[in-house]
Amino acid sequence: MQKKVVILGGGESGTGAAILAKSKGFDVFLSDRGQLNQKYIDILNRENIPFEQGAHSEETILDSVLVIKSPGIPDTVPLVVALKEKGIPVISEIEFASSFTDAQLIAITGSNGKTTTTLLTYHLLKNAGLNVGLAGNIGDSFAWQVAEKHFDYYVLEISSFQLDNIIDFHPNIAVLLNITPDHLDRYAYNFQNYIDSKFNIIQNQTENDHFIFFEDSEVIMSELSKRNVDSKKVRISLTNEPENGAYLKGNKLVSNVGTNAFEQPFDELPIKGPHNAINAMAAIAVAQLVGLNAQQISEGLKSFTNAPHRLEQVQVIDEVTYINDSKATNVDSVFYALGSFDQPVVLIAGGVDKGNDYSQIESLVRNKVKALIVLSKDIEKLVSYFSGIVPQIYTTQDVQDAVNKAQEWSVPGDVVLLSPACASFDLFKNYEDRGEKFKAAVRNLTSQN
Ligand code: ADP
Repeated sequence: MQKKVVILGGGESGTGAAILAKSKGFDVFLSDRGQLNQKYIDILNRENIPFEQGAHSEETILDSVLVIKSPGIPDTVPLVVALKEKGIPVISEIEFASSFTDAQLIAITGSNGKTTTTLLTYHLLKNAGLNVGLAGNIGDSFAWQVAEKHFDYYVLEISSFQLDNIIDFHPNIAVLLNITPDHLDRYAYNFQNYIDSKFNIIQNQTENDHFIFFEDSEVIMSELSKRNVDSKKVRISLTNEPENGAYLKGNKLVSNVGTNAFEQPFDELPIKGPHNAINAMAAIAVAQLVGLNAQQISEGLKSFTNAPHRLEQVQVIDEVTYINDSKATNVDSVFYALGSFDQPVVLIAGGVDKGNDYSQIESLVRNKVKALIVLSKDIEKLVSYFSGIVPQIYTTQDVQDAVNKAQEWSVPGDVVLLSPACASFDLFKNYEDRGEKFKAAVRNLTSQN
């Protein structure tokens, strides 16, 4: 008899998991409490995979031998609790997919910088001619690709939610960029639970694997002091010069991972700011570990284009540079965004506050931000925190109004930076929508000269 597998959640990863499970001979059923996207309905029908939407049929689901759960569904929902009580394994799509591939897995996690580092690493490997796939929290489902393609390497962007439900997932190279408080609502408001989840990335690594981490992070270092790590450690740093690792020496990115030394001026890269130096060093370290030579790495670094909404330059008008960093949805990202500019900044921030502590950016704001524009429904917290710290504050719920005010308050040489520190759902569909509307508003501006 075929083993019955249930997929909970029918988005990209769930549909991909269903296709892989079917191709491996499981009896598959997909259940989504919400409404499925028509694209996935068509695919499930075409593949003859039974599914339901709008509700979960508990009895059928509790009758399975394995459940693959979408990262969007918390472990605390009653159905998942019931499954666990019955002893039915509940795993993530990456756990499931990784058991069906022999490819080398490069898994990248952190509170910030995952997408940039994943895209850059993928670009370096692909550009050097490796047969490499890109998956995880990004692009096409990992499971789907495992079912239909044959890559030698996968570069995977991995969120903490995916790491919550792994058993044997075993990356050959794991990258941990940073850990700062985020998503605490999913971790019983206990930061340690979130740290533990991130560290699951090395749980199954052996002495043949590598663990690349940012050694300037106090959280990472203090956690490492409590753990035995089996894999080989590779350090990256902005302040030290680790022996086996990558670091910034003056303006140069230096990496001595593997046998060949690598050096390149950071300003030759299209990505800017100290956070992107960290991301680039992580990607370079991976590239050296898989055997790329210096020329291949250097070429790839120069030809990289980052995803939009991450410190993306929109336009220069009257010598004022407008930057879209809509993806900066927490305080740590704004810390690095502000650290990327020497010029005076007109900062546009605000949105849905996820329990932000602004003390981390207080001195940067004091030194660099000449005016703050709060683009938000709830203005209270930002306004009260930064009154007296920033000379001028304006509040609005309209993105064009925010951009117009930024133009009025800026002079040649300034930077107007949208870096919200908050989620976007109060006034926008998502961070992409916020970034697109910001860019459109900037493009509506006309020169005042
Ligand atoms: P993620 O996928 O983890 O959300 P992104 O690469 O999309 O990360 O970057 C999100 C935001 O985080 C960017 O707008 C940037 O301001 C900030 N950021 C990027 N890399 C880092 C880093 N290494 N450390 C801290 N902040 C970062």
